[in-house]
Amino acid sequence: MSSLNDDIAEMHQLMGIVHNVDVGLVVLDREYRIKTWNHFMWNHSGISPFSLNDKNLFEEFPELPTLWLKKKLDTVFLLNNRSFSSWQQRPYIFRFHSYNPITGRTDTMYQNMTIFPLTGISGAVEHVCLMLYDATDAAMDEVALQSANEELDRLGRTDGLTGLLNRRAWENQLQSEFKRFPRSQKVSTLVMFDIDHFKKVNDTYGHQAGDEVIRATSALLQDTKREIDIAGRYGGEEFCVILLDTDCQGGMIFAERLRKAIESVTVNYENLQINFCISLGVAEISKNIDSHTAWLEQADKALYQSKEGGRNRATLYTQA
Ligand code: GH3
Ligand code: MG
Ligand code: MG
Repeated sequence: MSSLNDDIAEMHQLMGIVHNVDVGLVVLDREYRIKTWNHFMWNHSGISPFSLNDKNLFEEFPELPTLWLKKKLDTVFLLNNRSFSSWQQRPYIFRFHSYNPITGRTDTMYQNMTIFPLTGISGAVEHVCLMLYDATDAAMDEVALQSANEELDRLGRTDGLTGLLNRRAWENQLQSEFKRFPRSQKVSTLVMFDIDHFKKVNDTYGHQAGDEVIRATSALLQDTKREIDIAGRYGGEEFCVILLDTDCQGGMIFAERLRKAIESVTVNYENLQINFCISLGVAEISKNIDSHTAWLEQADKALYQSKEGGRNRATLYTQA
């Protein structure tokens, strides 16, 4: 008799544990009828176990991923195996709210789920238990980490002063474009340019004013190019842009337009009015160029000719 009492006492304890653990527990029979619905499920769904007792899970919760979940439950019944689902695969099973005490935001709770078989005295699987874990904190951490990494990645690729691609990132783009050319046969043109007598700008107006000139140049470059063209800050006051699907004539038209735009702009910096100009070099891609650096050298040579020729001009690279 005392052994029966002990058993009952233990059962009572176990039921207390089942109801009070901080995970969701749902026991189902083969017809998906709800046999246990613990406090976690009650708290988060707002639906009490009394109103759900013996009810069909999928009829009570039609928003569940029915086909997918039935397949998982059936497999556990059939194979007497465990089955899992992580929030990365499926963010949630039950649409519960999750209150975040830090951000004060209420969001959908991310969930991990385990389904395991419950065998009866005969050894057959008569029920399964669906266990639901709140994975919101882990998911939020991962989301935050991911966006921090994306931001770091972006910062690693861009130039702080202008927001243009930095030299390394831009050269990667140039290399990709160069590699793509033999297959795509789409001509692109490279334009390099350098601010004329920029040392004088710094010496006359100061380094801060020089920075403002660099920023203004970058803004005009952004305004003049198309969205698909890839612009970068190559060095101090040297810039570069890959004009996609553009031949050398198009490249020269672009270069002239940019040269004129820069020539006609006045940068105002602390009551100073600064006018400046640029020299440009233009080189179209061709099958005779054997590397992206050789392509760059062609544009650079043309730029050098512009400087030699008197500055404030654009030169198209031509084979010597
Ligand atoms: P050129 O017409 O031959 O190009 O003459 P330049 O004076 O522009 O020649 P150079 O390329 O030798 O000078 C570039 C100067 O740009 C030197 C450097 O101090 C300055 N510089 C480089 N980076 C920055 C920057 O981020 N901000 C400022 N204000 N100046 C910079
Ligand atoms: Mg210069
Ligand atoms: Mg320079």
